Amino acid sequence: MTSLSIHNARVWADGRFFEGGVRVEDGRIAALARDPGKADTVLDAAGAMLIPGAVDMHVHFRDPGSPHKEDFGTGSAAAALGGVTTVLDMPNTKPAVLDASSFTAKRTAVSGRSFVDFGLIAAADPSNQAHIARLAEAGAAAFKFFTYERRDAPPAGILDDATLLDLLRAVAETGVRAHVHAENDSLVKAGRARERDSGDWSAHLRSRPALVEEEAVARTILFAREAGALLHVCHLSSARSLALIERARRSGQIVTAEATPQHLLLDEKGYALLGADLIMVPPVRTEEDRGALHMGLASGAIDAVATDHAPHTDDDKTGAPLAISTGLVGVQWSYPLMLTEALEGRLTLARAIDAMSTRPATMLGWRGKKGVIQVGADADLVLVEQSASVLDRSALASRGHSTPFAGTRVRARIRDVIVGGRVQVADSQLVGAPTGVFVTPGVRSPETRKA
Ligand SMILES: [Zn+2]
Repeated sequence: MTSLSIHNARVWADGRFFEGGVRVEDGRIAALARDPGKADTVLDAAGAMLIPGAVDMHVHFRDPGSPHKEDFGTGSAAAALGGVTTVLDMPNTKPAVLDASSFTAKRTAVSGRSFVDFGLIAAADPSNQAHIARLAEAGAAAFKFFTYERRDAPPAGILDDATLLDLLRAVAETGVRAHVHAENDSLVKAGRARERDSGDWSAHLRSRPALVEEEAVARTILFAREAGALLHVCHLSSARSLALIERARRSGQIVTAEATPQHLLLDEKGYALLGADLIMVPPVRTEEDRGALHMGLASGAIDAVATDHAPHTDDDKTGAPLAISTGLVGVQWSYPLMLTEALEGRLTLARAIDAMSTRPATMLGWRGKKGVIQVGADADLVLVEQSASVLDRSALASRGHSTPFAGTRVRARIRDVIVGGRVQVADSQLVGAPTGVFVTPGVRSPETRKA
């Protein structure tokens, strides 16, 4: 592979900036220097920030199975344009990723079509307990548990408590994390029935009050502790759930959590204004919840920002509040939004980069390989220009267009994006080829387990 050098940057390394650049050889960072020297390709950063590419642990690229919503080409193009250089894709594709053969089939189907590196998450559901070990061997990045019956629920139905515990035990054996969408199924069903005929968008929130999440988080924390499983709570939405996670950690249990930009930046006041563009599950809640999550992100109690990028067609997002598809696109704008939080002083830049990149990489066992700018690491790099702009829906590369952030002012422009040493985005335009590679979690060492 050819060499690349980036000059005149403010390089984020070891938790601070230095003026200089990096030299990349064979897809890895070969040197950090004031003057990184000549190379086959030379980029002038013109004073822009050079930061590690983001790792988004939660995307739905709908591939295979639903190309009208998204495919790996469009989803990963959106990721690259947003400075997200590694994604973990969720298993509720068609067919669902339930065993080693569907895992391998999906890996084969999407290989050669991704502009960013990708890992694949496997499902853990009532039908596939016997397949957990082989899915881990095949390279599953995590196992996804749904505690409520989603619309595209597998034929085997939802997890009862005994099955949940058994599955967590099977996953614990592998050392791979259990990622949980935590909502109480019975309360979701009752809430939806209660609000079925409501015409206002806040009905979505009323149908899934905080208790819906809190109960399922409490239960999965208890069960994961019993099973010895590493628990990761997806898209945390409430202050009360966060308090449960912090309490479990104080007791010595390893529990990690992610939050989406919309749960960190928006609250229930948005429903009237944004309508379908704020409808996802679990719902965006009160200002108190949002504030607690934001503080949790700042303190590190919430480990990572992940988007739950979940595209739907415009038709799927049209209709009554409780009838439309839930899910929003997010992977293209998460880095600009979170960097703006830092540049406007509401979060440290160190924590923004950590939550977007370093921390999720560490959780996946990629310490020193991804999420950092240091010699030997993958050259997954993002040049960010500090300039004000307004997020424009027409710039989305995803096939889904539903997002609450169109029209939002940001102060960070993702200028150039390098994945594995290849320039995928130049001057905010996709210029690369789908050369992203399949990645698996790092060695599941005791160090990783503590991460
Ligand atoms: Zn999701």
